[in-house]
Amino acid sequence: MTSLRLRLKQIRSQICAAELAYNRKPNSVLLLAVSKTKPSAAIAAAYQAGQRHFGENYVQEALKKQQELGAYAITWHFIGPIQSNKTKALATHFDWIHSVDSLKIARRLNAQRPAHLPPLAICLQVNISAEPSKSGLSLDELPQFCEQFAQLPRLKLRGVMAIPAPQQNFEQQRVPYKTLYQAVAQLKQYELDTLSFGMTGDLIAAIAEGSTIVRIGTALFGERDYA
Ligand SMILES: *Cc1c(COP(=O)(O)O)cnc(C)c1O
Repeated sequence: MTSLRLRLKQIRSQICAAELAYNRKPNSVLLLAVSKTKPSAAIAAAYQAGQRHFGENYVQEALKKQQELGAYAITWHFIGPIQSNKTKALATHFDWIHSVDSLKIARRLNAQRPAHLPPLAICLQVNISAEPSKSGLSLDELPQFCEQFAQLPRLKLRGVMAIPAPQQNFEQQRVPYKTLYQAVAQLKQYELDTLSFGMTGDLIAAIAEGSTIVRIGTALFGERDYA
């Protein structure tokens, strides 16, 4: 077994074990393979091992890989910061956007989503640890944003995404996710079905608190080299 195949298998079994341990339904947590900075060959290898959902952070890099991997039935998720001059490419070439945190961006994506494609799946990014330097809505802003999405028929609001500040231990990792879970539970009328949280360092805590998409890069593809 190649090491990528093995790592994928290990992550999948960790997810299954966490679902069982924390009373989550089997297969209720989707593994999103975060492939930023990694070559198309790594994506192809993961695909051949059965992985279908991939997440990218940089538009140009993602478009290049999508072209190289055109023959593969991949579901593409964008999880990086969004510049308004990139919304057209995002609306055209992705299935999901996890990092929407302004109405201006949402309106552009709505206007630019091509008519022949289904509505673009959206998660609102929430700055759950309220870090001034980080992108994302505050928890207080979440209800009014959900309300506004009714006006945007080419977008399908699915849920929320968060990247909390790093925590010291498992119990502390759970705290921000519990808060976000509870905030979303207050928004029943919007029928949100997605909590995009959990990365390599905290996926078990995230699953314990209700995550439905874990975004895993390092544990799958190894350390990233930004040089
Ligand atoms: C890079 C990235 C990840 C993956 O992080 P790892 O710690 O490598 O698993 C997940 N989510 C977002 C938004 C990212 O930018």
